[in-house]
Amino acid sequence: MNLHEYQGKNILSSFGVRVQRGIVADNPVKAVEAAKQLSIETGTSWWVIKAQIHAGGRGKGGGVKLAKNLADVESISNTMIGMMLKTPQTPPQGKKVNQVLIAEDVYYPGASATSEFYMSVLMNRASGRNMIMYSTEGGMDIESVAANTPHLIFTEEINPSTGLLPFQARKIAFNLGLSGNAFKEMTKFVTCLYTAYTKSDSSLFEINPVLKTSDDKILAVDAKVVLDDNALFRHQDYAELRDIREENPIEVEAKAAGLNYVALDGNVGCMVNGAGLAMSTMDLIKQCGGEPANFLDVGGTADAERVEKAFRIILKDEKVKAILVNIFGGIVRCDRVAQGIVDAYKNMGNAIKVPIIVRLQGTNAIEAKKLIDDSGLNVISAVEFQEAADKVQEVLK
Ligand code: GDP
Ligand code: MN
Repeated sequence: MNLHEYQGKNILSSFGVRVQRGIVADNPVKAVEAAKQLSIETGTSWWVIKAQIHAGGRGKGGGVKLAKNLADVESISNTMIGMMLKTPQTPPQGKKVNQVLIAEDVYYPGASATSEFYMSVLMNRASGRNMIMYSTEGGMDIESVAANTPHLIFTEEINPSTGLLPFQARKIAFNLGLSGNAFKEMTKFVTCLYTAYTKSDSSLFEINPVLKTSDDKILAVDAKVVLDDNALFRHQDYAELRDIREENPIEVEAKAAGLNYVALDGNVGCMVNGAGLAMSTMDLIKQCGGEPANFLDVGGTADAERVEKAFRIILKDEKVKAILVNIFGGIVRCDRVAQGIVDAYKNMGNAIKVPIIVRLQGTNAIEAKKLIDDSGLNVISAVEFQEAADKVQEVLK
């Protein structure tokens, strides 16, 4: 589950990580109140207005603006709230800004001796261990740092049985070129950050930039936090952080129906039982020159009701030009699934305008094929996996 910057910062802060302070607002009046409140709390007289969307690169797209007085706070918030913000990470039409974060300006004049670092915490899938990735080249596009100057990116792996050890936190501060109080502050920052990562069951923290101020404070200016959905049951209080306005509406609906659905960019809708079979089905579609429009695992109980729900969800995606149903009847009987498909098709009247290719294998596959072939519907049956993928390509031509 992706979080907004302000939510991520709240989590960091709750574990003792120093952050650029801010207050979220969804209209210009509240934005001005927030700015006044921040001045009382932090003494700041300038503010930075930051669009809250689930995408990075906001600075480049005009989603981070400095305000030097309350009139600026009001006019910038007024323009930003409701706008479609386009950044290198948003879809081409941009993402709607519903809220802004009014934050204390931490780059105030006179603080010119500041440095920006990059730091992330994530799982190294090759070793199965968490790692802290960090660089002196913060504040900029880390992908280009990785491409052009990979030696400037360091990683520190953490042994899960010991957790982050004090010498590792010191090594990070040292490699970032820090000394004195800033060194101490950085070791504390890293330690709290790693604790926050594990305790919140996150799957990604990306803090870019981490700022060193002229008075040697280390703080998170930005926060990208992704929580692990599978661990959300342990954090009831995080459930309310979900902002479904940021999510794909079809995925939200599928989730509510208990279907495991991920929207993709192609034109072949897929309905499969089992995640592994779904992955190989997508691979085969690609190998045959097609592009899957989605990942969809209907699960073990592919009955008429679920099949119909799945069809309806797949068809919400206007890019879908054909649907491939690939079901293995292990526990579920193929003829029951076939009946489910026929019933769903009939129930949906003429809602299904695209050809459907059905491959049912396993228990009662022969009876299932007969049911499909005799139904008189625009459903094409296939026996072999390859044959099914080829038929998809034929109907697309
Ligand atoms: P991103 O572009 O979506 O990654 O958003 P960030 O939160 O990283 O902000 C982008 C850039 O805005 C930062 O790299 C800073 O250069 C700038 N910025 C962030 N906070 C402040 C601030 O308090 N004052 C000023 N002047 N600039 C800031
Ligand atoms: Mn950033």
